[in-house]
Amino acid sequence: MGSTSQAKASKDILSSEADFKKRDAVWPLVLFYIHVYILGTTGIYIAWTGASWSTILFTALTTLLGILGVTVGVHRLWAHRTFTATAPLRLFLMLCQTMAGQGSIYSRVQAHRLHHAKFHQDEDPYYSKLGFLHAQLHGNLFRYSRQQEQLLIEIDMSDIESDKIVMFQKRFYVLLYIVLNVLLPLNTPFQYFGETFGVAMFVGFWLRSLIVLNVGDLVNSSHFVWRIQKDFKPTDSNSIFFITKSFWPQFHYLLPNDYQSGEFGDYAKGTGTAMIRVFAALNLAKDLRTISSVAVRKGLVMAVETKRPIVECIEEQVKLEKLPENHFLNREKFM
Ligand SMILES: [Zn+2]
Repeated sequence: MGSTSQAKASKDILSSEADFKKRDAVWPLVLFYIHVYILGTTGIYIAWTGASWSTILFTALTTLLGILGVTVGVHRLWAHRTFTATAPLRLFLMLCQTMAGQGSIYSRVQAHRLHHAKFHQDEDPYYSKLGFLHAQLHGNLFRYSRQQEQLLIEIDMSDIESDKIVMFQKRFYVLLYIVLNVLLPLNTPFQYFGETFGVAMFVGFWLRSLIVLNVGDLVNSSHFVWRIQKDFKPTDSNSIFFITKSFWPQFHYLLPNDYQSGEFGDYAKGTGTAMIRVFAALNLAKDLRTISSVAVRKGLVMAVETKRPIVECIEEQVKLEKLPENHFLNREKFM
């Protein structure tokens, strides 16, 4: 084979590989996001100058419920299985997640599992060497590449497929989206709080979407915000957002099955963690999985001594731990 045909063959291979990894923009979604940013920002002004307190409080409530559906629902319950939930709680979290307008639970869990499986690699739908903005925004605006589609098929979704509530939402997502994410937040201020349709639209829909979509997308991008600063971990508190950064992403991406691991850089102190404890106290959530410092310590010792993988050793130590007798979730003793 001559050198010209060899060069052509390798060029063909490169272009077919590029095709395999190529992601095209979803233009209707790009247009939607442009509207979210422009009209949502206008919504801030309208909320400040023209909306009633009832509308503002109702919008705040629906915004918080949407965020709860993403953090406690999609992320901690469905993607990482950090606890088990009764059917009424799963139904509640499914309705909340629909109000976030991010897409079905099934699609978000599948994408988040791929994000963890391919973290720091090009195949990760939310990671790019381009940084935070890609993970936060652009990653959502592109279709999956053929390579990613193939990888998504390989993600084990059997637990999700056996959850009837999640599969119901997947099947009727468009209908549920229209009712919970459009009609409910628009109609309530318009019909019950005497608001004009314009105010209801700008505040109830566009401003709420601006907040909920951006906060929800942090689940996939916050590791850029709270990335490691070597040898220095001042605190687990959320104030690190303003002051410095911590080891939080390393913990979550190594051991994601901890119900106390907050999406926004904190540990054991966030609203999501508090809500899971409330659900547990109400007997709606069970089998809360967490990883104590003792288990991490023992697991590290075990890994050094046995030369086995660190995560495997820590998880083995977690299984050996029992809930302390005086733990507030020890229901036999306290409830
Ligand atoms: Zn995660």
